[in-house]
Amino acid sequence: MNILTFDTEEWALAKAGGWATNERYAEYDAFLNRILDVLDERKFQATFFCTGLMASDFPQVVKLIQSRGHEIGCHSYHHTWMNKMTEAEAREDTRAAVDALEQCIGEKVKSYRAPAFSVGNSNKWMFEILAENGIEYDASVFPAARDFGGFANFGKKKPCAIEYKGIRIKEFPICMTRVLGKEVAYSGGGFFRFFPLWFVNNRIINSEYSMCYFHILDLLPELYGVPSKAYYEAYYKEPGTLKNRYMRYLKNNLGKKGAFAKMISLIRQTDFVSLNQAEKMVDWEKAGMVTL
Ligand SMILES: [Zn+2]
Repeated sequence: MNILTFDTEEWALAKAGGWATNERYAEYDAFLNRILDVLDERKFQATFFCTGLMASDFPQVVKLIQSRGHEIGCHSYHHTWMNKMTEAEAREDTRAAVDALEQCIGEKVKSYRAPAFSVGNSNKWMFEILAENGIEYDASVFPAARDFGGFANFGKKKPCAIEYKGIRIKEFPICMTRVLGKEVAYSGGGFFRFFPLWFVNNRIINSEYSMCYFHILDLLPELYGVPSKAYYEAYYKEPGTLKNRYMRYLKNNLGKKGAFAKMISLIRQTDFVSLNQAEKMVDWEKAGMVTL
């Protein structure tokens, strides 16, 4: 089972970040349309995790994705990382996001992904918040140690149930592979840009379970420059030292050349399903459970 997901917040981030122009919106629209066209060509459904702000400020984008037959999931309201919010802030953010998305698409939102997979042992209350908002399945767990979030001892590398304080959520964790003795993600973000296409495709077709995750912004060929101190501090909520800002710039931009075409090639050569299709394919009785 190979799941295809996109995290969709670029239009709203550009507006909130003050770098929005009509040309930039047109560019995002064009990249989205190319993705939707190739999905039509392959007759695949994918899951698009959209922010609440996309539903409020750019409903036409969210509705377009839905009208082409894809699942709309929730990707927070403002795209603030879960580990940068208090539990009360996260509760309000999630409620507002689910409300805005449901109003926009006129149906229940069942899937969730935290921005930048920013959930770990210190904020596992997130699962309680998801259950309160009627979320049935989540795709936020990074089942390894990382610099923020992640569950080093998660154990499961496939879909499973998560139990936390008596609530249950169906989890689709990020898939990992072993390279030089180390567990690494390979199917999205900077990892996808770094590994050659044959490597990623080979891992996907030889795995029982994989999940690809893409942001349009991760794949755009253009560079945005080192973020300003004010923007960095407002968005990442940490000191905007030159080192922090430069490292973030490198992380976000290395290997972008050809990345979009590489993703299109991957979609053309591999079969994918959306999260809500995958949910019906899993035998949840046998999938096991992780208690957090
Ligand atoms: Zn995102």
